[in-house]
Amino acid sequence: MKVHGSCLCKTVQYEVEVPFVRFVYCHCSRCRKATGSAHAANGFAKPEHFRWIQGESAVKRYDVPEAKRFGLQFCSHCGSKVPHLTRDGAGIVIPAGSLDDDPGMRPQRAIYWGSRAEWFTDSSDLPRHDAMPE
Ligand SMILES: [Zn+2]
Ligand SMILES: [Zn+2]
Repeated sequence: MKVHGSCLCKTVQYEVEVPFVRFVYCHCSRCRKATGSAHAANGFAKPEHFRWIQGESAVKRYDVPEAKRFGLQFCSHCGSKVPHLTRDGAGIVIPAGSLDDDPGMRPQRAIYWGSRAEWFTDSSDLPRHDAMPE
């Protein structure tokens, strides 16, 4: 099954074959910086199962110089994270928040749990609102 994804401004659009090889929440400090959030939600796919539909020329890449593996790509118009090829070329990392369709699977594990933010709180422990509360 193919699912689609896009950035916030819709310039960058892609499709990817699911299920993912793996699907994780990553709490490492680099993912926290890169997402501005408590953790990344990343699906991993084989490169041959991924295709840009449009906007590839707007995609910018950043590889952390001192890191062995860490890199990311983002839309140069809206700043949203978009998929990137791993530095060894073995896989495509899909930021799951960029998906427009249900990938039909759920995250399987939380990695770098020991690096989680001090303030991390599971959302099941919080009051829930379907929209912005009054
Ligand atoms: Zn964009
Ligand atoms: Zn990470």
